[in-house]
Amino acid sequence: MAGCVKAMKSPSHPTIDERTDMSLNNQLTVDFPLLMRQAQASAAVTQACSCTITPLQAWTAQPLTLELDCFEEVGTLLDDPYDEPTFAEYHPAGTRYDSPDAPIAPRFYPTNRCSVARCTKCSRHYLRYNEAGGYFTELRIRALQPDLLVDAPGV
Ligand SMILES: [Zn+2]
Repeated sequence: MAGCVKAMKSPSHPTIDERTDMSLNNQLTVDFPLLMRQAQASAAVTQACSCTITPLQAWTAQPLTLELDCFEEVGTLLDDPYDEPTFAEYHPAGTRYDSPDAPIAPRFYPTNRCSVARCTKCSRHYLRYNEAGGYFTELRIRALQPDLLVDAPGV
């Protein structure tokens, strides 16, 4: 549970100290082949679970119903914790940020700052990051879907 609470509170623009902390907590940088394996493993899970009650095909504020459940952070997609990842998005087919069929491209926003979280009950994998507004940060979550994964070269 402690891990969930910590993830909720971490800012999306961490200070240097917090970045160091983050890289220690998430030792594993998830590369594309591993991400694809995690996505395919998730797609193969058929058991009903509380994490699938709210559709998470598109980026969604993490539902309150899920905040009580625990996700286990299994890795990060942040390449270099000292380098500010791009805010460029990847939409070659005209999708938008919140389209359910928007590509998941690890070198583009917001996937490039996500952690990979696994539901401890059913082992489905999700991407999560903190979206920063003027006076708030909001934990957003999206299901990791193999059909949408694209290993597009970065900008
Ligand atoms: Zn689950």
